[in-house]
Amino acid sequence: MAQTPKVYINGKLFDKPDAKISVYDHGLLYGDGVFEGIRVYSAKVFRLKEHVDRLWDSARHIGLEIPLSREQMVEAVLDTVKANNKIDGYIRLIVTRGAGTLGLDPRKTSDPQIIIIVDDITMYPADLYENGLDIVTAATIRNHPNATNPRIKSLNYLNNILAKMEGIRAGCQEALMLNHKGEVSEATGDNVFIVKRGVLLTPPIDAGILEGITRNAVMELAKQASIPVKEQSLTRHDIYAADECFLTGTAAEVIAVVKCDGRPIGNGKVGPITRQLRERFMQLARS
Ligand code: PMP
Repeated sequence: MAQTPKVYINGKLFDKPDAKISVYDHGLLYGDGVFEGIRVYSAKVFRLKEHVDRLWDSARHIGLEIPLSREQMVEAVLDTVKANNKIDGYIRLIVTRGAGTLGLDPRKTSDPQIIIIVDDITMYPADLYENGLDIVTAATIRNHPNATNPRIKSLNYLNNILAKMEGIRAGCQEALMLNHKGEVSEATGDNVFIVKRGVLLTPPIDAGILEGITRNAVMELAKQASIPVKEQSLTRHDIYAADECFLTGTAAEVIAVVKCDGRPIGNGKVGPITRQLRERFMQLARS
């Protein structure tokens, strides 16, 4: 039988049913906090330093001081993975603003809460990895970079949840989000890539996206495989007219998109470059 997950809260481990924080926490009241989703493959944490660095960047942006050093955070994550005997799994690392008053003022909070959950995750059933996803474009756009900048991995995902609900209502598992200029930004929880005439294209960071750690790994792998890679702004036309399309993310890994807004992409099947990059990514993750 699987053991009860042990959850780290501020330096202590609690069994999952006992892992609790205050209902006055501004993470709950306002989504005031930051997080990371990280994978464990073959008992090794994938790109932990990159995740911790991104967490710090997100925290800096929202003026949240994390009460640990980066090295201590790395240790805390590794210790929690070990305490859970996790060989393959998913880590959710969260830092909230902490408990405060019922107003927005972050100065009236104390004690940022550091939470580390180690558990299992299955994003999509195996047949979707084999056959690819059907997605739709959401009417809800990605956050404007001058609002909650998409580079912040903040606890406030409501905008993306609204887009995800549009996808679900259309019978799809994911939705494509545009930015305020009508360009492609990303999916609700994944970055987006297309292949056109042998070139791998993905929107640049300033299209208003999260700089995905899987995205960066896939771009490196493509370069190693001599596949040309370009960060370039894309429109829905580029998606419809692409030879291949796929999404990347810590939870989803690399997954093909074979239809968007009712248009088959390429021949409507998982493309060869997508397949190759998925294989290379899984090899890297498990190495
Ligand atoms: N975009 C968004 C909005 C995300 O939430 C995520 C993470 N789930 C990603 C992209 C992918 O980032 P990563 O590869 O670092 O998981």
